[in-house]
Amino acid sequence: MTSSLSQLWGTRWPIYDHPKTITPIHNSLKYNWRSLKYNWRCTMTTSPESEHPIKAYGYAARDTSGSLSPLTFSRRVTGEKDVRFKVLYCGICHSDLHLIKNDWGFTKYPVTPGHEIVGVVTEVGSKVEKFKVGDTVGVGYLVGSCRSCQNCVSEYEQYCPRYISTSGYTYFDGTQTYGGYSDHMVTDEHFALRWPENLPLDAGAPLLCAGITTYSPLKYYGLDKPGMKVGVVGLGGLGHVAVKMAKAFGAEVTVFSTSISKKQEAIEGLKADHFINSKDEKQMQAARGTLDGIIDTVSAIHPIAPLLSTLTTNGKLILLGIPEKPLELSAASLVLGRKTVAGSNVGGIKETQEMLDFAAEHGITADVEVIPIDYVNTAMERLLKSDVKYRFVIDVANSLKAEEVDSFSS
Ligand SMILES: [Zn+2]
Ligand SMILES: [Zn+2]
Repeated sequence: MTSSLSQLWGTRWPIYDHPKTITPIHNSLKYNWRSLKYNWRCTMTTSPESEHPIKAYGYAARDTSGSLSPLTFSRRVTGEKDVRFKVLYCGICHSDLHLIKNDWGFTKYPVTPGHEIVGVVTEVGSKVEKFKVGDTVGVGYLVGSCRSCQNCVSEYEQYCPRYISTSGYTYFDGTQTYGGYSDHMVTDEHFALRWPENLPLDAGAPLLCAGITTYSPLKYYGLDKPGMKVGVVGLGGLGHVAVKMAKAFGAEVTVFSTSISKKQEAIEGLKADHFINSKDEKQMQAARGTLDGIIDTVSAIHPIAPLLSTLTTNGKLILLGIPEKPLELSAASLVLGRKTVAGSNVGGIKETQEMLDFAAEHGITADVEVIPIDYVNTAMERLLKSDVKYRFVIDVANSLKAEEVDSFSS
């Protein structure tokens, strides 16, 4: 998406730095050491087949076209704290689209996306405590973190400077992480979630990203109390779940959208209390000073001053999207009313488990269109046009066949 984002995220590659991030220190010993280490790791990652003996298959993008096609690769043996599971369903998140097209500038091909994964455990390591064979598990955006920094100790693994995402990142052993558009996965049990019994597997899968991304800021910023007046900006994959979460907390929910056609869906389908066409100045004016908080799910550049004006004193605007350019912000819009603009990114493992249990208790799922995996490229095209209500979920287990898969090539 942006060079600024890739610079930001470049800092998350602490040992095996992306080449772009290490150019300023060419002549230092540090650089030489890092360079050696980087090259060594590159050598390692060029032949994952020899790294890991367990054959796996899935769909991967091989270049910036983002076109997904079958791929054979390999995964590690089950370590003593690992669980191995067969993938049943995997949601398609909008960030999968950014990843396969290298919009963020750090994608290493081939890349297998997918971080809204539900599966059934097929093998557990000797020291696994949380799971047994046959359990249903979920895996979201994270499969690794340092486990010792202040963020990890505080169970905010998503803010660990060494966090490892489920696809397209480099794991501790130097190999690439492959996501859930694949037949099976293996992960440290710490990063696997216990799947609540009554939570549907297909419609529940998107909660592993869209659910926690909206649940976490509602909780952290104190918008989870009954009677709070909460705005939700954007009615897509994240936004529609945000409405459901906020309603389940007992909030009075206002949906902001630039598309008047979404009013009926918001009010009748999602049970939002109010709908505001954010292009309509009269409607925006009428909402001035009314909201305790706003969950803003929009990734495109958009004006935030009109949104800030709808907040009450001490109100909070929480950004979940990352527009490619800085947003315009007037200090006066914050100072006059002690308002806050904040951000939030997914959630830690403990909180994700709490969110899944909350969703199961309150009957919250995403609205999904379940597809076979060979439909995935069409689904990506439709996602780009926001032509889905509201999340695609791949029925991996019933549609991904090993015999369709080509041999590994990069
Ligand atoms: Zn996501
Ligand atoms: Zn950490």
